[in-house]
Amino acid sequence: MPNLKKLIAKISADYPELQLAPGERFQFSPPSTLYYDPQSTEKRSDLLLLHELGHYLIQKSNYSSDIELVEIESQAWAKARTICPNYDIQYDEDFAEDRLDSYRDWLHLVSLCKNCNLAGYQDSTQLYHCPLCGATWKSRIIPE
Ligand SMILES: [Zn+2]
Ligand SMILES: [Zn+2]
Repeated sequence: MPNLKKLIAKISADYPELQLAPGERFQFSPPSTLYYDPQSTEKRSDLLLLHELGHYLIQKSNYSSDIELVEIESQAWAKARTICPNYDIQYDEDFAEDRLDSYRDWLHLVSLCKNCNLAGYQDSTQLYHCPLCGATWKSRIIPE
């Protein structure tokens, strides 16, 4: 397991405006709190933390569609990749892609109409519409 304590100390020194706090999972909470899971058994919890730092650094927390949410996830990983060298951390493309895949799978599933199994489109209120039967449904909670 990576040495999270050391990484947390380094991040705190680099970004004194950030609060790093133990939580149930790795999560960035705007405007400036990074939660980390001190019990995490994840082998790359260091990357999870840098990904959340990536969310903070790209400064995009609001999204108007589920597609945009997945795009923000992707950008946060790209940011994590660029800051890895600052912390002597090896980036892992497969690890990041696996995490992104869970968002992509979720996006696919949430967009399907329950009646027709066709992909619906999301309107500006984030409500999905089926192009065939006209059913509407709400987006569901994002994956962890
Ligand atoms: Zn994320
Ligand atoms: Zn339908």
